[in-house]
Amino acid sequence: MDLVSAGRIGAEGIEAFHCDHHRTKGEAVPYQAEYIWIDGTEPSPLVRSKTKILPDGKKPPIWGFDGSSTNQAEGSNSDCVLNPVFTCPDPLRGVNDILVMCEVLDVNGKPHSTNTRAKLETVAKKYASFEPWFGIEQEYTFIQNGRPYGWPENGYPAPQGPYYCGVGGDMMPGRDIVEAHTAACMAAGLAIEGTNAEVMMGQWEFQIGPLGPLEVSDQLWIARWLLFRIAEDFGVFATLEAKPMLGDWNGAGAHTNFSTKPMREAGGYSHIVAACEAIGKKVNEHIEHYGVGIELRLTGKHETAHYTQFSYGVSDRGASIRIPWQVAQDKKGYLEDRRPNANMDPYSVTRLMVDTVCTAASGSKGAPAKKSAAKKTTAKKAPVKKATAKKAVAKRPAKKAARRR
Ligand code: ADP
Ligand code: MN
Ligand code: MN
Ligand code: MN
Repeated sequence: MDLVSAGRIGAEGIEAFHCDHHRTKGEAVPYQAEYIWIDGTEPSPLVRSKTKILPDGKKPPIWGFDGSSTNQAEGSNSDCVLNPVFTCPDPLRGVNDILVMCEVLDVNGKPHSTNTRAKLETVAKKYASFEPWFGIEQEYTFIQNGRPYGWPENGYPAPQGPYYCGVGGDMMPGRDIVEAHTAACMAAGLAIEGTNAEVMMGQWEFQIGPLGPLEVSDQLWIARWLLFRIAEDFGVFATLEAKPMLGDWNGAGAHTNFSTKPMREAGGYSHIVAACEAIGKKVNEHIEHYGVGIELRLTGKHETAHYTQFSYGVSDRGASIRIPWQVAQDKKGYLEDRRPNANMDPYSVTRLMVDTVCTAASGSKGAPAKKSAAKKTTAKKAPVKKATAKKAVAKRPAKKAARRR
């Protein structure tokens, strides 16, 4: 068994490894920090990562990488900088190991042109007094041998119908990976809220939130990285492609649920409608950043509205924006923008939504006072399950993965 597999046996496994080979009792041990960042691959960026071994107690510092290998720099001037922005326990390695979400800077310390997080940070600060919250539903598809996981080698599975939230038989390929991924997200302290099987066989969903725009985006990228990494151990590839199978098969989206403080409070319904109207005035500007291949997915079929049209409505899964039934009932709450693709960049999507909605609402009746904007942070009031680094993690979730292989 190689080291990786050995590590995946569980926290106890890696501890035992340290004890046997490196360590006497009570001695400080180095730990592993997995630095994760978003690259410059076009048209859809990929997530990358590499490992840094750090002395016990040392915080993860700024680090670098070869930007010429990630479409982020020229070979002659290749250094890019990794600046840690969010850390959480690494559920796949030892109890002291961590995952480190990074933004990319150039060597002068300025945000790199691929750094969409920095742009969001500016907008999030500007509109902090609105206390925006997001919940993102991440759909994705497992692929093996170039076909959705579990699909017959030749031909197609039975048509869509039984797979959404289905159970039983051989209809639900990938469930063991989903279970391992969910447990990993929980052990990492991410605000994962739920999972479900999707309409197309081999397609699944998890939700992260509700959190402020920066927090939800950082955590979504970590959750994506965990998904890709865990699927590796099952010999399966998880893709965020928007329309992996053309024809009468559902695409993969990332419904983005959004609210501001005024929308969540009594009388919030008028603010929700105003938000829909504001978004409806910027259709192209939003769609442009809602993910590659959006015209293949937003066809007007398969629970989508056509990408050239804009509509909103209560309970309407054929609308661009759905106002959930319960929200219409309560007369306050949130809206669901159903258009973003599975492969969207949450830093860009949440930035556009906050910017469009809060700019339109600023100065209108019921807008939060600007004064408090500088003092408050978006995370404060959101029901954040804070993920702190070095927190003792629950039993390792990936045992199944190790056994299976
Ligand atoms: P559905 O599949 O019916 O569209 P899900 O249960 O998958 O809905 O997702 C609902 C999403 O709504 C979750 O991500 C949750 O965080 C989000 N959400 C709930 N309340 C709010 C709110 N007040 N503001 C923003 N997002 C919210
Ligand atoms: Mn959902
Ligand atoms: Mn869904
Ligand atoms: Mn949804």
